[in-house]
Amino acid sequence: MGKVWIDGGIVELADAKIPVTDHGLLYGDGVFEGLRITGRRVFRLEDHLARLATAARAIALEIPGGIGAAREVVLDTARAHGADEAYGRLIVTRGEGALGVDPTSCPRPRMLCIVDEVRIYSAEKRSAGLDLVTSSLRRPPADVLDPRVKSLNYLNNAMAKLEARQRGADEALLLNASGFVAEASVANLFVHRRGELLTPPGSDGALEGINRMTVLELAGSLGLPAREQTLTRFDLFAADEVFLTGSGAGMVPVRSLDGRPIGAGVPGPVFAKLAAALADASPSLGTPF
Ligand code: PMP
Repeated sequence: MGKVWIDGGIVELADAKIPVTDHGLLYGDGVFEGLRITGRRVFRLEDHLARLATAARAIALEIPGGIGAAREVVLDTARAHGADEAYGRLIVTRGEGALGVDPTSCPRPRMLCIVDEVRIYSAEKRSAGLDLVTSSLRRPPADVLDPRVKSLNYLNNAMAKLEARQRGADEALLLNASGFVAEASVANLFVHRRGELLTPPGSDGALEGINRMTVLELAGSLGLPAREQTLTRFDLFAADEVFLTGSGAGMVPVRSLDGRPIGAGVPGPVFAKLAAALADASPSLGTPF
């Protein structure tokens, strides 16, 4: 059963409620982190907390009690949930305020944390690979809504995912306003081509993903050249392998884009090697609870 830390205590998921005037609900005003719990540890908790702190600073939002409080909230909720494998969602909203967009009407930010199961892609999809379609939506540019801020405003992500599902695909490929590859709806994207692992830079509209960072580090330790590079759809069609990374998604291979096979159309050896390295490294990168 899902557990939620809210307003100073832990309750069952079904009993967790927030007031309708919370600006997180009214305006998507807030930030969040999606956390992977594996082997009874919270994967890279300190990196998630640092990203949350940066995002909060970027939108002038105070984390109630600071990062220390957020850390305890995550660990307490994971403990209350009790499962070795789960997913955590740490959220800070602008809090309750007036029926108007002005954040200065919200005196107290609200923190909450959900721990529950997550299943974004089925086991069959994970082993066969995902079918992607190029979204008709673009990632917003940094001067509209910086995609590096993991904000509660996920309408762009949700609509891209909906479009992909309505077109019979598993996932959306989002380009930025210049037509360069940004990422998938809620996951980062990697291309393996000519012995090199490539992923778009944050400035192209990619979230600075925790799993993305981990895969870049692991590639280095495996002697696989890896770097950030601006990519277009050409790079995906030319790739030997493409895969996605994310806390909810995990590492998942891509087998097609817009109805055309990627590489051999099946998960490749580089994906398998990195996925195994990630699984091996995960325990040592987690905070126990
Ligand atoms: N991009 C977006 C838009 C996301 O929401 C996520 C999931 N948090 C990711 C990428 C992957 O990031 P991470 O590895 O930190 O989960």
